[in-house]
Amino acid sequence: MKLCSSCGSQMPDEAYTCSFCGTPLQASQDSQPPYVSQPSYVPQPYDPSYQQAGYYQPPYVQPVYADSSARSMATAALVLGIISLLTGGLPLGIVGCVLGVKARNAIPYGAPGRGMATAGLICSIFGIVIGAIFLLVCLCIFGVIILEEMVILGGLL
Ligand SMILES: [Zn+2]
Repeated sequence: MKLCSSCGSQMPDEAYTCSFCGTPLQASQDSQPPYVSQPSYVPQPYDPSYQQAGYYQPPYVQPVYADSSARSMATAALVLGIISLLTGGLPLGIVGCVLGVKARNAIPYGAPGRGMATAGLICSIFGIVIGAIFLLVCLCIFGVIILEEMVILGGLL
């Protein structure tokens, strides 16, 4: 409701002038624009502890530490790589190589476990090479023996 400033009559909000005295009506308090208060938000001074606290929250930062499965994969790659390197085991080397590559992909650069994954990968590759050479030598020896036996058999026939 509006209140006439000169005669005091109550007028509806949509009225522009008083119907009794004709005085132009001012907008009532209800229809006045809402009071705009000063912004209550005051920028806080830079608080280093806020960032410090957020540093360890996974959604906000790149994980520095790889998950445990990737690290155990790196350990397995290293163990398999060393075993394949020592024994010339071709299948172990291949498994170690695959695990090493997977672990390296899962562990970010500079995180613990990545070096182990790299070492496992290198050991596995050498293990594969040694295993392949060993296999090739065995096949050659076997082939020579077979050939000699054939020659001997051929000579006998
Ligand atoms: Zn009036």
